[in-house]
Amino acid sequence: MESIIERITRGHFWTFHGGVHPPEQKKLTSATPIKQLSLPKQLILPLQQHIGREGKLLVEVGDKVLKGQALTSSENPMAVPIHASTSGIVSAIKNSIIAHPSGLQSLCIFIDVDGKDTWIEREPCTDIDNLSQLDLIKKIADAGIAGMGGAGFPTHIKVNNNEPVNFLIINGAECEPYITADDLLMQEQSEKIVSGIKLLEKLLTPSFILIAIEDNKPNAIKALQDATSTFDRIKVCVVPTKYPTGGEKQLIKILTGQEIKSGSLPIHAGIVMQNIATCFAIYDAVFNDTPLLKRVVTVTGQALTEPQNVWALLGTPVNFLLNAYGAQRQQLTDQQNHQAVIMGGPMMGYSLSSDIVPIIKTSNCILVPNKTEMPSAFDSESKEVECIRCGQCSDVCPSNLLPQEMQWSAKAKDYAQLEKLNLSDCIDCGACAYVCPSQIPLVHYYRIAKAEIREQKQLDLKAEKAKIRFEARKLRLEKEKVARQEKHKKAAAARKAAMNKATPEAAGAKSAVAAALARVKAKKAAKDSNQTTDTTSQGSQTESSNAATNSDDDQKSQVAAAIARAKAKKKLKAEALNKTSTELDSKTTDTDTADINDIGKHSVASKTTSSQQASTDDKKAKIASAIAKAKAKKLKNSVETSTLDEIDKEVVIEKPVNQDAKKAKIAAAIAKAKAKKKLKDEQTDSSKNISAKQPDEST
Ligand code: SF4
Ligand code: SF4
Repeated sequence: MESIIERITRGHFWTFHGGVHPPEQKKLTSATPIKQLSLPKQLILPLQQHIGREGKLLVEVGDKVLKGQALTSSENPMAVPIHASTSGIVSAIKNSIIAHPSGLQSLCIFIDVDGKDTWIEREPCTDIDNLSQLDLIKKIADAGIAGMGGAGFPTHIKVNNNEPVNFLIINGAECEPYITADDLLMQEQSEKIVSGIKLLEKLLTPSFILIAIEDNKPNAIKALQDATSTFDRIKVCVVPTKYPTGGEKQLIKILTGQEIKSGSLPIHAGIVMQNIATCFAIYDAVFNDTPLLKRVVTVTGQALTEPQNVWALLGTPVNFLLNAYGAQRQQLTDQQNHQAVIMGGPMMGYSLSSDIVPIIKTSNCILVPNKTEMPSAFDSESKEVECIRCGQCSDVCPSNLLPQEMQWSAKAKDYAQLEKLNLSDCIDCGACAYVCPSQIPLVHYYRIAKAEIREQKQLDLKAEKAKIRFEARKLRLEKEKVARQEKHKKAAAARKAAMNKATPEAAGAKSAVAAALARVKAKKAAKDSNQTTDTTSQGSQTESSNAATNSDDDQKSQVAAAIARAKAKKKLKAEALNKTSTELDSKTTDTDTADINDIGKHSVASKTTSSQQASTDDKKAKIASAIAKAKAKKLKNSVETSTLDEIDKEVVIEKPVNQDAKKAKIAAAIAKAKAKKKLKDEQTDSSKNISAKQPDEST
């Protein structure tokens, strides 16, 4: 069976499904050599110019930078650094419009060019053989090289591969109309491109290297054939011109007959593909220690007076290019109003929303057509009509997709259905839109849908990562808890075992533990006590109060008993006094009456004798006093005796209660008795006097 190499050597290739043959329009720029563009006044360098992540900023506003100086670092493998394309001063770091179909803004470094084009110090390599694979990969990574065919995938990742490589394919097809940048580069820099290819060979060690060039580039084919004539394993493959031959999967199919399935990568089939311009950049990076600072850009279109391929510094604003190559200003203004400046070719390119967007690593063409060559670019209103289900789009789709169904799903935002229809295999070639009779901008719908799906996937990925982090943390905490518990168990067992040993140390440890336990208990008790302070203090107060109350009650009861006894005694005394008084009254009624009469008489006499000296009330009081004295006189002996006896008894009874009080009472009783006795004597005397006076008065 004929091998692939034999087939290629004989010029027999496979073909891919679909494809179109649009007008090439390459002669506008293919006949003139690449020009060196003069320095612009300002460069605008987006931090991200590739697929992946932007690097970390290394400069600040006001920094002076040299040509080739790194402006960002690539700490992440998917981050590719950018460099100052010429010397100057960083005038701003801010968001600015970048080359994107949606007019997206991104962080950019603005450099005011000083015009000196001063290089940073470089170390060109003269002995490539002494460089290891890692050295080569590092040089490629540090140079900030990303796929220059349009995809922008970081080159250092693509070449850092451990899988066996059968074919290294160098893509020089450049199938899109108008674009001739790779064609001219191959014509002018074939030797350096081949040197770059040899470096890739060192890294990937492929079985064969195939350089694919469309048959519409005879000069480039010749240049490469000449440059590779001494290398047996490098084949220049002249493939038929058909759009999009330059597509990765399509070119692999043409050269090897292999189809890369959906979701699979070329490396899985033992194939790696690199672009012609990327090979030149690798050469420059490794041999000249020159990072990726410039690229060939086809500035073309019939609206330009001088279409041209040009070495443009990365960061050069598009309007600077257009001014340099004679865009017909009035026409350009009209075109700008209608978004007729196209970044890329007519098939895969997109209209720019502003002409100040900069050239980046993946920019290969600026197309400025006039109304005749591309009238659709000047249409202010869409001429899109309903799909007529003609099926032409499916016929030309190189990825064997169903473009008409995909556009319906894209319009309906049915992303699940788009996934089923393998939207991700669409290479945005635009062949379907090119043939669509309904003028449906099919690629436009696919790009929007892809961007939204990508965004949704990123959100899902973030959520998934957050979930994984949460689960991992939970698991870690659980493990730590179990380990802690295990450790405590072991420590407790060890302590117990140590204390159970019959040694002085164990005894000491036991007592120490006991002491510690006691301390803990005491602490706990103190704590409990503190917690119940209020209750306890209240209880204590109540108890004290109760005790005091009890004591008071005892005393009170004793006092009450004494009072009761005293009252009883008083009552007894009063009864005795009443009894005596009654007896006395009955015995002395006559006497009393006589006495009273006597007193009355005496009183009258006294009144008569001294009526002007005393008031009637005084006299009455004197009479009452005299009557009382008379009554008391009759009580004298019996009362005196009984009273004294009772006082003695009272003293005896109350003595235990309060000796001093009793003594005082006794003294008072004695004094009272004495007073009574004295009163009695006085009354006796008084009665004698009254009796003595009465006859005198009655007479
Ligand atoms: S080419 Fe256009 S009109 Fe025809 S089926 Fe496809 S989308 Fe519809
Ligand atoms: S743009 Fe996509 S759907 Fe349309 S032809 Fe190309 S690959 Fe197929």
